[in-house]
Amino acid sequence: MDTILVSNRVAEPSRTGAVSGGLAAVLLSAVKTSGATWIGASGKFAPAEDVRVPTHSKRLGAGTLTTVDLPVTDYRRFYNGMANAALWPILHYRADLLRYEPEFVASYRAINRIMANVVADRVRPDSVVWVHDYHYFMLGEFLRQRGFAGPIGFFLHTPFPTKSVLICLPEHRTVLKALSAYDLIGFQTDEDLLRFRDYATTKLSATMVGQTELQFDERRVRLGIFPVGINVDFFTDAARANINGGKINRIKRGLHHGKMVIGVDRLDYSKGLPQRFAAYERFLTIYPDERKRVSFLQITPPTRSAVDSYRRVRAELASHAGEISARYGDVDWMVLRYINESFPPDQLAALYRVSKVGCVTPLRDGMNLVAKEYVASQDPEDPGVLVLSKFAGAAKELNAALVVNPYDIGELAQALYRALYMERAERVERWNAMVTTLRGGNINRWYEGFLDSLRESAVTSLPVASRSVA
Ligand code: UDP
Repeated sequence: MDTILVSNRVAEPSRTGAVSGGLAAVLLSAVKTSGATWIGASGKFAPAEDVRVPTHSKRLGAGTLTTVDLPVTDYRRFYNGMANAALWPILHYRADLLRYEPEFVASYRAINRIMANVVADRVRPDSVVWVHDYHYFMLGEFLRQRGFAGPIGFFLHTPFPTKSVLICLPEHRTVLKALSAYDLIGFQTDEDLLRFRDYATTKLSATMVGQTELQFDERRVRLGIFPVGINVDFFTDAARANINGGKINRIKRGLHHGKMVIGVDRLDYSKGLPQRFAAYERFLTIYPDERKRVSFLQITPPTRSAVDSYRRVRAELASHAGEISARYGDVDWMVLRYINESFPPDQLAALYRVSKVGCVTPLRDGMNLVAKEYVASQDPEDPGVLVLSKFAGAAKELNAALVVNPYDIGELAQALYRALYMERAERVERWNAMVTTLRGGNINRWYEGFLDSLRESAVTSLPVASRSVA
């Protein structure tokens, strides 16, 4: 079988050959071992006058990585505009941050069409195409227009919001109706699936066929739940291997007998960082004795800095972090280390393990892999405690965490205290429940499970002749 994967960017294998713990690793390994082709933007731009966009393919093991140079103006309106200033806030329930211009959707269509053409030039009759995430809602429709009748699947890594939020997006119908071109649409949780079904039946005139299929005009689409997992062994092994590294030893020495709390998040307003800082301040106020016993390490690599809302939250956090350090820190104690830098997954694993509490409190998150990585990296004999937002997809599976409402600053402050002082027996019991769940949902199973279901949905969907898209 010929598998073609499409996402906004492809991951390049690292120079050291180290395999990271995440989604990129599983897609890369599918390329290397099962001969898949993975297609994404190159990050370089096509000359404006080019009719055909330049593509670059390189062999990787049994498969191919293909990157595409896209036209600069369209790509910027597509990526900084439609994807990150319009779709991302809406998908994360932040209609207040939505910014929309008509040229965003025009460029979104243009880039989706270009990428569909790149895929169309590569497909064979036996190909299976798997499109990832909100950047490419419309790609399947353009690929059908090019005559491809084989299986096309779509997986949404973000939440799917309630329809009252989604309809704030101008052109929501144009963008989302295009999903009817896919044979299978995958979601992270049952709630995302139900919200999509509700939106599709009330706003897109779809009708339900049983509980997990939708009929759109002459196309039938299957819906499925595929919670994305992690490579559990990678984090367990990396944490064990790196726990006595130089940097980790220096941190441990610096803590004396104190405890570390860790947060690891891209700098994004969906991650609930202002609320987390406020809760930590509340904790330090209610429990002044903790000011010299607890150190919060917040690792926050900046992202999407071309988008205004990201620049604003970055400035807000820098100032808030400065205030906390100034007010509660001491000459011999770092109460908060706020770091705008990215760390490789094997180092993160050791940092997770040395931290008694993992604080993962997004306001909305499709899944949140950091929550799963924190659990996988713990010492089974003496595990740390995960404090987890109920609005992260991961809370569905990791309900043995201390599950909190991230908007409730007082509750979050108390959860930090409870986590820091939880008895070992309770920590071990909670951790065992969570790690068992994680092992059952390993990332390789997720990958194979989606593709199996896609092949099956395509077999049961309508005959090729009626697969055209209106
Ligand atoms: N990550 C990383 N280095 C960092 C910060 C994060 O490798 O310095 C990784 C992290 O290990 C996780 C991913 O980035 O695998 C973040 O995924 P998550 O689902 O938590 O959030 P997203 O960024 O996709 O919204």
